Amino acid sequence: MVDQWTDAEQTQLYFSAFRLSASGMAFFSEEGLFLRVNPAFGKQIGYPEEALNGKPWEPVIHPQDRERIHRILKELADGTSAAQPFEARLIRSDGTLVPCSVTAPVVTRPNGWPASLFVQILGSDAQSRFATPTPGRETIREKNGTGSDSLYRTLVEQSTDVVSMHDLSGRILYISPSCRVLLGYEPEELIGTSAYDLFHPEDLTKIPGMMSPMETAPNLPLSSYRIRTKNGGYVWFETSGRIADDEHDSGNGQTVICISRDISSRKQTEQQLMKTNELLQKISSIDALTGLANRRFFDERFAKEWRHAMRFSTPLSVILLDIDYFKRYNDTYGHHDGDACLQYVAEAMRRAAKRPGDMIARYGGEEFVIVLPVTDGRGALYVGERMRSEVEQLRIPHRGSAVSSFVTASLGVATMIPVRDVSPRELIIRADKALYRAKQEGRNRAIAYRDE
Ligand code: GH3
Ligand code: MG
Ligand code: MG
Repeated sequence: MVDQWTDAEQTQLYFSAFRLSASGMAFFSEEGLFLRVNPAFGKQIGYPEEALNGKPWEPVIHPQDRERIHRILKELADGTSAAQPFEARLIRSDGTLVPCSVTAPVVTRPNGWPASLFVQILGSDAQSRFATPTPGRETIREKNGTGSDSLYRTLVEQSTDVVSMHDLSGRILYISPSCRVLLGYEPEELIGTSAYDLFHPEDLTKIPGMMSPMETAPNLPLSSYRIRTKNGGYVWFETSGRIADDEHDSGNGQTVICISRDISSRKQTEQQLMKTNELLQKISSIDALTGLANRRFFDERFAKEWRHAMRFSTPLSVILLDIDYFKRYNDTYGHHDGDACLQYVAEAMRRAAKRPGDMIARYGGEEFVIVLPVTDGRGALYVGERMRSEVEQLRIPHRGSAVSSFVTASLGVATMIPVRDVSPRELIIRADKALYRAKQEGRNRAIAYRDE
C-alpha cells in the first residue's frame, strides 16, 4: 500500500509519525552527535528538542553503555554490523536513568547521513501481548527505500506505537506492523477496513466528534478508547492524530495520520484508583468536592451535640444555607463551574464560622448546614449574616439570578435548648422553615426562625 504512494506522501507519513509519537525516538551518529530526536524523546529525558539535535550524545548516555554504542557504530560504518538490539540507559536532566533500546536501523543511508543508531525509550505498556517474531526486519529490507523517508520508516515500523493512516471515513490505508504485537492482526487484515469497526460500541458514542475527526483539524486531540483485538478481548488505546498537509495530498481527499499507544495498564491502575476512591468516600467523613464534613458525619456529630447541649442546658444553633438560583447558575455556566462555585462558597463559610466547636457540612447538593454549639439565637443570626455577606463578597458573576448580579445565598437560623422528648430533627425543621421564609422574602438574607 505504502509503496504506491509518492515519495512526498511517504515522507509526510513517516515524518509525522516520528514527530507525533509518544515514544521517545532518536538517531545518533558515529561522530558522536544526535542526528534527530523527536519531541517525545526530549520530553522524556528532560531537554528541549533543540538542545539535543546536532549535539553530542555521550553526556546523556550512561558511561558504562557508551563504549558498546561506539563499537556498534564503528561496525555499522565499516558495514560489518549485525547488531542485536540491546538495552542502554539514558541520563535525564535531573540525573535519573531511563532505559532505552538501541538498534541499528536496517536502511540504506541517505546521502550525507553517517552511520547511525536508532534509540527508542522503553515504555511500560510496550510488552508484547501476542507472541510474534520481532516485527519488521524482513519487511523493511523488502521495501527498502533510498530517500530520507526510509529512516523515518524504520522508526514507524520498529516503533511500539501503532502508526496508521486513514481516509476521512476512518478506513485504514496503512497500519504499521506493531498492530501484530498490540492487537494480534496482520496489517493486511486491517487495511481497507474501518478503524471504527474495532471500537468498543460504548466508546463510539462516548467520544464526541470521533466519527468525523477531520472537522477538528489539523491536530486531533488525544483520546482514549477500547479497541478489539484479534482474540476478541479489548485493549485501551490512546490516539493522537494529524491531518496530512494539502501539499502532500494525493488527490484522493484528505488523510489522517494517527499514532496510537496501548495504555491498558495505565487504565487498569486508574480504574483501581477510582474504585479505591469511591470506597474511601463511602467510609470517609469528608465531602470530596468541598472538603467540608459530609452528611453522614453531620448526622453523627449533630446527635452528639444535641445530647451534650441537653445535659448542660446550653443553647444549640443550626444554620441552613442554600445558594440562590443555583439551578440557573448551572444552566448558564455549566456544571463544572457550578462545582467550582460550591467550593468558593464553602471557603466563604469557613471564613465566617471560626470557633473550634463550629461544624460546617455539605447537607446535600447546594445546601450547607452549620452547627454552632453553645450559641444563642443572636449569636447564630450574627454568624448567619456574616456568611451571607462573605458569599456576596465573593462577587461571583451570576447572570441568571433575579436578586443580584452575583452569587448570593439565603440562610435559615434556628436555636433551641434541647429537652427530652423533643427530636433533634425539630431544630433542623425550624432552620428549614426560616430558610423557606428567607427565600420568600427576597433571598440573599439570613432569617431567624419565629413561632407563628
Ligand atoms: P433557589 O434560589 O430557590 O434555591 O433556587 P435553586 O435553583 O438554587 O433551587 P433548586 O433546589 O431548584 O436547585 C438546586 C440546584 O442545585 C439543582 C442542581 O442543578 C444544583 N446542584 C445540586 N447539587 C449540585 C452539585 O453538586 N453540583 C452542581 N454543580 N450543582 C448542583
Ligand atoms: Mg436547594
Ligand atoms: Mg438553591
